[in-house]
Amino acid sequence: SGPQVARLVASRVLDVPDFPRPGVLFKDLMPLFADGAVFREVIDGIVAYHGRESFDVVVGIEARGFVVAAAIAYATGVGVVPVRKAGKLPRPAYSASYALEYGEATLEVHEDAFTAGHRVLVVDDVLATGGTAEATLGLVERAGGTVAGFTVLLELAFLGARERLAPRPVHALLTV
Ligand code: AMP
Repeated sequence: SGPQVARLVASRVLDVPDFPRPGVLFKDLMPLFADGAVFREVIDGIVAYHGRESFDVVVGIEARGFVVAAAIAYATGVGVVPVRKAGKLPRPAYSASYALEYGEATLEVHEDAFTAGHRVLVVDDVLATGGTAEATLGLVERAGGTVAGFTVLLELAFLGARERLAPRPVHALLTV
């Protein structure tokens, strides 16, 4: 159930102060990925929430989103499309840049990544300011996909990403 999965996520996240910069509290979900039984319950929880018939492909955001996306894809029999950091994709790609606290980041997706109208489930590990998610959802639409859902394992509510992404629905297994 939802509350049970939320408790599982809470039990497998480590708070790392001042990483990667002073003042940032990094939410490390490696313990969750490393625990096979918990990882499986988390993946099954995401699939159950959205329904396995509600999406045709899953997008993972580099790099920890890849771990989640690949597991959902295998569990449901759909494929994975990676959204990558700039300069990693070998063929023509759409780019989206967005502001970070210091500087700028760019994400890319292959122009031919989606079949027109394919329903795309987008996943990542942590939702912070929502800049990464906003850029990714825009890329999916530019490349011809339809966003079917967006799920993260952990949402940091005080940063306001949910409001930023509205009216798009955000699903978080755990919100803190
Ligand atoms: P944002 O664009 O601010 O929502 O940041 C989201 C991306 O950065 C995700 O891919 C996260 O993996 C990573 N991230 C941002 N802040 C944190 C944090 N406090 N702990 C762990 N990961 C984070």
